[in-house]
Amino acid sequence: MIDGLPEREPCSVCGKMQVQYRERRSAARKRGAHQRRSLCTACYNHAVAREVASKTVLPGVVDTQTLVHRGVCVGTCDICGIKPAVWSDPKARTKLCEVCYESEKLKAGSAESGVKTV
Ligand SMILES: [Zn+2]
Ligand SMILES: [Zn+2]
Repeated sequence: MIDGLPEREPCSVCGKMQVQYRERRSAARKRGAHQRRSLCTACYNHAVAREVASKTVLPGVVDTQTLVHRGVCVGTCDICGIKPAVWSDPKARTKLCEVCYESEKLKAGSAESGVKTV
């Protein structure tokens, strides 16, 4: 999502002159925005947490049981599209980050035990 080069410009969110992250053009386009965001570390972390939380995948799309932990980054997470993926499915080519893997696993677990998620 974000290039790592520090730039001399204020954070798009809080206005601090400590920008550490620059949004990629493709990520900005994805949001439907024309301008890339520049973010300080704190706002970047907030943005990532918020975007990860806002993404949801249809139940049953990701089968966490077929995923293999790679231990290294194998690309960008297919669900949130932000975090580095460390889980991947060799057949389905699904890639998940730790956060999305955990949430998918929880979803699958609650479905199996018959607990409905609201
Ligand atoms: Zn900021
Ligand atoms: Zn993810």
